[in-house]
Amino acid sequence: MAKKYVYSFGGGKADGNESMKNLLGGKGANLAEMAGHKDLKLPVPPGFTLTTEVCTYFLDNKKTYPKTLKDEVNKAMSLVEKLMGRKFGDTTNPLLVSVRSGARKSMPGMMETVLNVGLTEKTIPAMIKQSGGNDRFVYDAYRRLIMMFSDVVMEKAAGIEPKDDQGIRKQLERIMDQLKKEKGYKSDTDMNTADLKKLCADFKVKIKEVLGKEFPDDPQAQLWGGIGAVFSSWNGKRAISYRRIENIPHEWGTAVNVQTMVFGNMGDASATGVAFTRNPGNGENNFYGEYLVNAQGEDVVAGIRTPAPINEYSKSGQNKDMVSLEKGMPKIYQELNLIQQRLEKHYHDMQDIEFTIENGRLFMLQCRIGKRNGPAAVRMAMDMLKEKKITKEVAVMRVTPAQLDELLHPIIDPKVELNTKPLAKGLPAGPGGASGQIVFSAHDAVTWFNNGRRVILVREETNPEDVEGMRAAQAILTARGGMTSHAALVARGWGKCCVVGCSAIHVDLANKELHMGDKVLREGDWITLNGTKGFVYAGQLPMMDATSENQLLADFLKICSTIRKLGVRTNAESPEDAQKARQFGAEGIGLFRTEHMFYGKGSDQPLFLLRKMIVSKTTEERKRALDELFPFVKKDIKGTIEAMDGFPVVIRLLDPPLHEFVPREAAKLDELAKDLNISRDELAKRAEGLHESNPMMGHRGVRLGITYPEVTAMQIRAIFEAAAELLKEGKKPYPEIMVPVVCDVKELDDQLAIAKQVYQETLAKYGLKSIKHMFGTMIEIPRAAFVADKLATVAQFFSFGTNDMTQMGFGFSRDDMGGFIGEYLSKGILPEDPFQSIDQEGIGEIIKLGINRGRSTNKNLEVGICGEHGGEPKSVEFCHRVGMNYVSCSPFRVPIANLAAAQAVLKETAGKKPVAKKKK
Ligand code: PEP
Ligand code: MG
Repeated sequence: MAKKYVYSFGGGKADGNESMKNLLGGKGANLAEMAGHKDLKLPVPPGFTLTTEVCTYFLDNKKTYPKTLKDEVNKAMSLVEKLMGRKFGDTTNPLLVSVRSGARKSMPGMMETVLNVGLTEKTIPAMIKQSGGNDRFVYDAYRRLIMMFSDVVMEKAAGIEPKDDQGIRKQLERIMDQLKKEKGYKSDTDMNTADLKKLCADFKVKIKEVLGKEFPDDPQAQLWGGIGAVFSSWNGKRAISYRRIENIPHEWGTAVNVQTMVFGNMGDASATGVAFTRNPGNGENNFYGEYLVNAQGEDVVAGIRTPAPINEYSKSGQNKDMVSLEKGMPKIYQELNLIQQRLEKHYHDMQDIEFTIENGRLFMLQCRIGKRNGPAAVRMAMDMLKEKKITKEVAVMRVTPAQLDELLHPIIDPKVELNTKPLAKGLPAGPGGASGQIVFSAHDAVTWFNNGRRVILVREETNPEDVEGMRAAQAILTARGGMTSHAALVARGWGKCCVVGCSAIHVDLANKELHMGDKVLREGDWITLNGTKGFVYAGQLPMMDATSENQLLADFLKICSTIRKLGVRTNAESPEDAQKARQFGAEGIGLFRTEHMFYGKGSDQPLFLLRKMIVSKTTEERKRALDELFPFVKKDIKGTIEAMDGFPVVIRLLDPPLHEFVPREAAKLDELAKDLNISRDELAKRAEGLHESNPMMGHRGVRLGITYPEVTAMQIRAIFEAAAELLKEGKKPYPEIMVPVVCDVKELDDQLAIAKQVYQETLAKYGLKSIKHMFGTMIEIPRAAFVADKLATVAQFFSFGTNDMTQMGFGFSRDDMGGFIGEYLSKGILPEDPFQSIDQEGIGEIIKLGINRGRSTNKNLEVGICGEHGGEPKSVEFCHRVGMNYVSCSPFRVPIANLAAAQAVLKETAGKKPVAKKKK
């Protein structure tokens, strides 16, 4: 049997269903589900879907179609015609259709649409009759078709790239603006039938003049032109950019949905709208949405007119005086409200729905899983769990690590905000706070961002073409548009701070100025946005962390903790960081970098003593310096172990090459020379002696301990004495001593001997029988992984230092690869930066080998990771799969690692048993 390329839906039936997203795209699959599923059978305008396979065929075969397609489309169209009692292209009772895109994953506004297809000079009279004599409406539909078709099909799909402002759509808009100006009209709705008729004629002339072709006044040419243009738009610039950012494979292709047109612009009993079964901005369980009377769908999503609220709950400062759907069309609202409840019950998730009311009759045009921001995702997951709509496993899978990250984003310091008068208020479209310098174009946003600036992209209205600039900006501010405009959807999906529909502002693009009343801000001026409330402030307000007060987040993370198998620890060097990480749920410290006590606040004295030790010439000199340094090291270690009381704390012995600490300022050199009682020349000579050509592979890590055993002894004594004192104070210290940069078991033997001796001395000094502790090593040199079986006979634990392992495994310098990694990524040589996400096929194999060899001689070996990868979701999943005991990451990434670890378990079991309740 020939392959099926076209799937019909409508009239209570559908060929496809929700599970066929790969083939029918998200929109097509959901239309089929809404139309045909026995529990739904919703009023969906009948239509059909051309599959994603047609798209890939079309793009691979010089824009041609499979042979059987035309026939299938004709048959599907006949079915629609039968259901509607109208005929496509008919001059007595014509059927009009829309042609829309629909990929597997929603790409809001990134591809093209053509509406009112089938409207021609010949079908116009019959359409006027069909609409009850509403000739104004028909001519308005016709001028929209001409504008859309010439732009999407005749220009974009034909590969014509006009200069700025010379695109056919812009040119036609100018004709329309001119007419409105001449007649003194304020809005499009002021135009009468004669105006629109004239516009259509003028448009056709302009199209011929600019594009050299006639607008096709033929239904079939319009239909196939539309289909081809939508398929071609898969490879449009903004679609490609969006896919790159969202990691959507280019091979997928889009489906095309051809569907009966229903009109929200037939008069005041008609309307169109977008709604969510719950509030996508904060997750509250309230039906939320916007609509426009006498308008087509594109008017809502394009953000051209400010929409009205569908109910009291959806009111905002901007639209509070407009009539809600609930008040204006109560019966329809009731029907819609029931449908939205059924949809959420059916899909067990928040739905984003598009509807149209044609002359008092409700139609459902689309439903899909609604995009939401981080706070809303957590709230909905927790609420639906309580409502018993989903299981706790599904709740955990409902929040992505990136969404969780949004919750950890800063907000404007509430105290400062309370005392600052906002310049303006708009709609709160994306959460959190952000400040940045004003830029007025997507291009400038990208350029400024690449120059290391923090920018806020300010636009008159939202526009999906801005996608790259939105990505580069800290936040987005627009003068027009609603919460459901495409740009707001995209920003929300990314968790960007975003304020839209801020009608008090006016953007003067030509002069790069932002006007708010009599205040004028210019490009480069700082502003601050509160995307949770919609406020705009002048200047740069201080930000703060919002995490500690979020009980829902805490509850959500608790659930994650019950599911994950990996432990989650933190990399921390101070009692404050340790405390913070514990609040986030860290179960210990996976890496305490001793050397951090020599940087930053309060480090002057210990750093001076360390320097003294470094430039010592004799063992005696060095020991004296170490004795002076000892109390500082002990105090730091003790504070941190105490903050993690009862949890393990991995303390790493000194790691970096010593010359990093040699002073360079004259005053510091003088001070040091004086203290050591040597000349500046002598000091300079000693410092020079420490110079290395390749310090990352030089005298660092365990090598320091081998050459200066007293350095190791001092640190281990500090660890054991800190623990002994805490024990005496009734605490439960648990240090794990970790030796860095190891490549051979004999290095470990050497250091263990020192540790054993200091241990015995400490026990004797404090009169203790034992101090709970472990002795282990980092695995960060590839050779260490290969000899891990031997290392594990001495080490009780391994911690993979994937930063150095990546550096040495790839031979890419950690400090210098910034200069070439960009090319590696843009040329596709590497899929991503291996310093951010573990390179699983290379470095990952070394890790696996290290774990297996280590456990072959020590089955109780504790294995963790402490490189930066320990907080990156994909790497966390990898760590779970290879059987590590824990991951360790910076305090702010602890919740993300917790979630990623729980999701790793669920993904693993998903293959074995279904996580979600299966639908028929
Ligand atoms: C590592 O190499 O992964 C590691 C944690 O150590 P550092 O980053 O301090 O070299
Ligand atoms: Mg390292």
